Amino acid sequence: MSLTTAKPVQIKTMEQLFMRGRSRLLSWRCFWGILMKSPLNQRVHSQLGKLPVSQCCEFFYTLSCNLLNTEELAAMQVLSSMLFLLPDETQHTQKARATLLRRSFQLAPTVEPMMVHYFTENLLKYFQPGHHLNSSHLLGIANYIATKCAIGKAVAVCLLWSIIYECGETEILIHQYRELSTLCNILNEVCVSRMNVTSFGILLRSIGTLLHLLLCGQGLRDFLTHGYPASFFRILPQDVQKLIDWVKNALEEFALRRPGALQRARYAAKKLLTSLDYLDAHGIQWCLVCRDAQGQPFDDCIKYCVLSDIRIK
Ligand SMILES: [Zn+2]
Repeated sequence: MSLTTAKPVQIKTMEQLFMRGRSRLLSWRCFWGILMKSPLNQRVHSQLGKLPVSQCCEFFYTLSCNLLNTEELAAMQVLSSMLFLLPDETQHTQKARATLLRRSFQLAPTVEPMMVHYFTENLLKYFQPGHHLNSSHLLGIANYIATKCAIGKAVAVCLLWSIIYECGETEILIHQYRELSTLCNILNEVCVSRMNVTSFGILLRSIGTLLHLLLCGQGLRDFLTHGYPASFFRILPQDVQKLIDWVKNALEEFALRRPGALQRARYAAKKLLTSLDYLDAHGIQWCLVCRDAQGQPFDDCIKYCVLSDIRIK
């Protein structure tokens, strides 16, 4: 007979969960500060930090069942993003935190451009790209919300553009969809020799994720129905070639100035180059696994495609 007994699950409180945050941005103090400055502050009680994580998630979920205005929703998106990013091995609470983040976007059933701008700007106000840890947080949020609903995808695309523009030290006034030809112009402004390999990796993953979100078919009909031009969802063959050249030149720069980091830089570039080579080899403007020759998305696109690979760590 086995004498082993199951290890009791330790119930963590919110404050204990935040002790595991890897950055100042993911501290209980910041979470509470954001909450108190937001219009949601009237609806919470002061002992929230002492509550078990699952109970707190339930509390916010119930709160979200009330009709929230745009400002309250935006605050909820930042708070649930913070919760989502905290490391925690307990599956039950992981799921509850992810559900909360998904819900904070699903409650805004619109891809109206000014709303997309507002939600994006609000997230960026807190997770300012620039430091690689913040950009990594933004990439994590973008990756998750992109697949949950149309507004999630719209905000994810704008967050990715922000990370890329930040690397090119170029300011964005309005967070919106833009044509992929812009990408090459911004990348020409990026000073690769000043980047560390972590920031370089985040930039490459942001570019690859952006290509996946725009060139594959998921949610495409929602955007076209709402008047987004089809030209946002394609890339011209000459731009693919320019991107390939840019990545290769960037790797040469690493070889010259940071030979010790070359291996890691090459590894980071591999998946992006695979996506670009696929587009280049077939001379195509979008993913032909996910969309037909006219660019219309396939209804039952659950197949693996090369462009989606960059989103898997
Ligand atoms: Zn695809």
